[in-house]
Amino acid sequence: MSRSDGSALHSVAMAEPTKHHGSCHCGKVQYDVEIALDAAVACNCSMCMRKGTLLAFVPEDRFELRSGEDALTHYRFHKHVIDHNFCSTCGVTSFARGLRPDGAKVVAINVRCLDGVDLGALTIKQYDGKSL
Ligand SMILES: [Zn+2]
Repeated sequence: MSRSDGSALHSVAMAEPTKHHGSCHCGKVQYDVEIALDAAVACNCSMCMRKGTLLAFVPEDRFELRSGEDALTHYRFHKHVIDHNFCSTCGVTSFARGLRPDGAKVVAINVRCLDGVDLGALTIKQYDGKSL
């Protein structure tokens, strides 16, 4: 998945970004993000397949974790480029931190965790993360 971040970021950067609030299920993890919500990536890597995440990517400076850093359990695999995490209380993955191929910090937002998201209005792009 790590090598896909650049193209995914490009594809969701078309519309104007607006502010959204995201959270885990129990509410310990809370964040604000500026994001253009017109598309999301469905990845078939071993992690995304199991979790069912729908991802959209933003530069780190458009993401602000309001609470819950100490509630996160971290998990890395494969090339260890992405800091996967989940809330240690409710188990929900609401975002992940990673690096783009050029080294820039990026945050992968699980758009399913944003308030008021209309999944039916999103263009879902299939990504072949399994082949990385
Ligand atoms: Zn939680």
